[in-house]
Amino acid sequence: MCIFSLIQDLYNNLNCQKQVVGKSFLGKPIYCFTIKKSEYPVLIFTYSIHAREYITSYLAIEQIKSFYKKGKMGTVHFIPMVNPDGVEIALTKNPLYKANARGVDLNVNFDANWGTGKQNVFVKGEQNYVGTHPFSEPESLALRDFTLKINPDMTVSYHSKGEEIYWEFFQDKKRLKRDCVFAKVISDCTGYPMVRIKDSAGGYKDWCVQKLKIPAVTIEVGSDLLSHPLDQRHLPEILAKNQRVVFALTEKFNELLYEKSACASKNSLKKGRSANRRDNS
Ligand SMILES: [Zn+2]
Repeated sequence: MCIFSLIQDLYNNLNCQKQVVGKSFLGKPIYCFTIKKSEYPVLIFTYSIHAREYITSYLAIEQIKSFYKKGKMGTVHFIPMVNPDGVEIALTKNPLYKANARGVDLNVNFDANWGTGKQNVFVKGEQNYVGTHPFSEPESLALRDFTLKINPDMTVSYHSKGEEIYWEFFQDKKRLKRDCVFAKVISDCTGYPMVRIKDSAGGYKDWCVQKLKIPAVTIEVGSDLLSHPLDQRHLPEILAKNQRVVFALTEKFNELLYEKSACASKNSLKKGRSANRRDNS
């Protein structure tokens, strides 16, 4: 079955909260599936912002089903295909197509050092065009507005390819340390290394880090030796390496929250004790 029918089918049949967060330039719905197991943490997962990377939408479907069945904590919003027009172009006309229907690369259209990326271009085309201004496109605008509405604790953006994790965007030291913890959780369960890239800008992850000041991570699935678009026969390996990601992140957030509250109660105990000592002396 084609990826559009698979998403549509899941949308019609899965018994969870579902919504259309916006429409593409050509009017296709951008779907979101929300699976709520508990209030905290709140995460957003996105897929296929780049057209030719639609293998990640197949991964989305499996992660949605799996978290629906076996998730224990957290609220996760899954947007399995941010760029449906582009995916259709990649499937029918140009397999290497990366942009949206207007020739704008959506993942350089966000307001985070917009237009300063090393590979940015300023004419429309199949990839790397930043648009006329940040959020010039309905798809990036929809993702921005949804993210602002949800106010998540973290976002994860799935891309292909390279088997790498990007998690930095000029954070200060304190936030770098915090965000590194979550990138490491992903690295530990996928086996993908955490990589420093210095010359990207205008991405969704960049914007989440810079403007929302939350941890935000890009996961590149599929070996760099493969060519775009990744063939479905590589899907089982991608699924296997990524099957724990959603669970592991929600667990880590809860673990840290628990440690924090345990620490806070220990501190208040200490304070109480020293106050007592003062009283006695
Ligand atoms: Zn990409």
